[in-house]
Amino acid sequence: MSEATKQDEKQVWVTESLHDHYAQRLRVDEMLYDSETEHQRLKVFQNGTFGRILTLDDVVQTTEGDNFIYHEMLTHVPILAHGSAKRVLIIGGGDGGMAREALRHRTVEHVTMVEIDAGVVDFSKEYLPMLSQGALDDPRLNLVINDGALFMKETSDKFDVIIVDSTDPIGPGEVLFTDTFYGHAARALTEDGIIVTQNGVPFMQGDELTGTLRAFQALFADASCYLATIPTYAGGPMAFGWGSHSSTNRSVSLTDLEARFAAAGFETDYYTPEVHKAAFALPGYVKKLFP
Ligand code: SAM
Repeated sequence: MSEATKQDEKQVWVTESLHDHYAQRLRVDEMLYDSETEHQRLKVFQNGTFGRILTLDDVVQTTEGDNFIYHEMLTHVPILAHGSAKRVLIIGGGDGGMAREALRHRTVEHVTMVEIDAGVVDFSKEYLPMLSQGALDDPRLNLVINDGALFMKETSDKFDVIIVDSTDPIGPGEVLFTDTFYGHAARALTEDGIIVTQNGVPFMQGDELTGTLRAFQALFADASCYLATIPTYAGGPMAFGWGSHSSTNRSVSLTDLEARFAAAGFETDYYTPEVHKAAFALPGYVKKLFP
């Protein structure tokens, strides 16, 4: 038996099987937490490349190493495109990374975060503090433990930006990919409001993106998506759904974005105004997924 195989035998791996014929494996250097919450199986483990990793039902949710790409692109793109976002709604986001990035904008006065699973918030605070970096204790944050679909149906609040930072459309996340949910979200947006969604890896989950775009085309003045590649969301670039009651804020000029980003006064590791504009340049196979 080869040394590598012997070595391999001793190693523990988590295999993510989100897709039928394609999986990714992540080595577990140390299992920090592994248990059932009220809604899902939560694991936090140490990995030599990505640092601490959070999985729910063995699907990668976020990692210490590459979360910055995902959290920067789902917050700074809509907030800077909007230009004067004061009230932000995050659906999901229990690890606190999305709240961290949204609250870096001094112009953002209020963030409501609706997370179905208190266990994700509690364990992320304890085992992944580098993700929220104190955001979960920010006085501007209103944390609501509830099903995001129920919240959206019942809320009478209005939001400038809605960020759907949910799991994939399996289990508790499934309701967050429905026309009903999107219809309630459209009502909860202000007149030039923007909704952005975690919409999977289009090379592997194209139908998911097509379904969201079809709903957004019916609900918003502007419907599209943008891309960024996050290494642990395996299978190619991830798509972020974009819907807005404004037909112009997606085409905000590079000059305006540069001025707004400079005024925001913080540094990023992925987002730049140029990357913002370029993220909406879609390859043919993604354009073909539009209804
Ligand atoms: N970046 C990840 C991805 O792309 O899959 C998402 C990370 S975040 C941890 C996903 C969160 O959505 C989880 O904390 C999960 O509990 C939450 N969630 C799933 N379904 C939900 C629902 N119906 N309402 C509110 N939160 C939900």
